[in-house]
Amino acid sequence: GFTEAKGIYAHPYWHAGKRRNADGDEDAILLLMDGLLNFSRDFLPDMTEAATMDAPLILSTVLNPDEVDDEAWAIETVDEYPLSFYEETTEYKKPWNIETDIEIGEDIVHSDRPYDHGYTHETSNIEDGPTQSEYVTLDEMSEKTSAQLGIGEKLKAVDENKVAELLLNKHFIPDIKGNLRSFSSQKMRCVDCNTKFRRVPLTNQTIAPSGKATAECPQCDGKVLLTISEGTIKKYMQPSKDIIDEYEISPYVRQQILVLNKTLQSLFGKDNRQSGLKQFTG
Ligand SMILES: [Zn+2]
Repeated sequence: GFTEAKGIYAHPYWHAGKRRNADGDEDAILLLMDGLLNFSRDFLPDMTEAATMDAPLILSTVLNPDEVDDEAWAIETVDEYPLSFYEETTEYKKPWNIETDIEIGEDIVHSDRPYDHGYTHETSNIEDGPTQSEYVTLDEMSEKTSAQLGIGEKLKAVDENKVAELLLNKHFIPDIKGNLRSFSSQKMRCVDCNTKFRRVPLTNQTIAPSGKATAECPQCDGKVLLTISEGTIKKYMQPSKDIIDEYEISPYVRQQILVLNKTLQSLFGKDNRQSGLKQFTG
């Protein structure tokens, strides 16, 4: 059937079988004969450096539930949760400490009914829920984080300060540090012919008033640019600063953000960008 949803409704094992875990990944369907008749590796993007795991290079005809990623076995298969489960949740137990036994995929994967998954709520229309992930409708990273933390504030079971600190620790800080480190050892790349350069070619260098340096590609006269831009590194800085202002974050994590912010300022300058010589001779 067809759906308005920007997604595909299917058994969890089918999603796991094609290596997507339904957390907002991009997905596609290719009709069988189209794949056999018209597919060519030549249509794939340049994959010299990227992984090939997203390319449709494997054709499976049988879905063996024993072969899918075992995270898909963690889904409950029951039609309802027992009362004792709800009672245990009032004690704020960790999921792995709950004593009530609830059947999950792992319990039946080697039985004769490995695909039998129940559901808890009846619906008259399968696409009654959101038809698109909220994540793609929000443009700015700061909108995404404030939406996520906004839900945390509304939910009693969630400590939004902990969520905020996790977000910084697991996502923003490693990202900023990683990009900062790669920035100083990065390659240059021609946007037209994709030739890589270990440093800026000396041909026709220009430095824009913004301080942005570009050069002309010796191979094709295209524009040679940095592979990791200032924007890439700074992307999570403002959201991080907003978070340490608004939430109770431990001093250690808070100081890491402030130190990183100072490092970024010393590398890229404060609000006024560094001037290029061209500005004065131009
Ligand atoms: Zn080029």
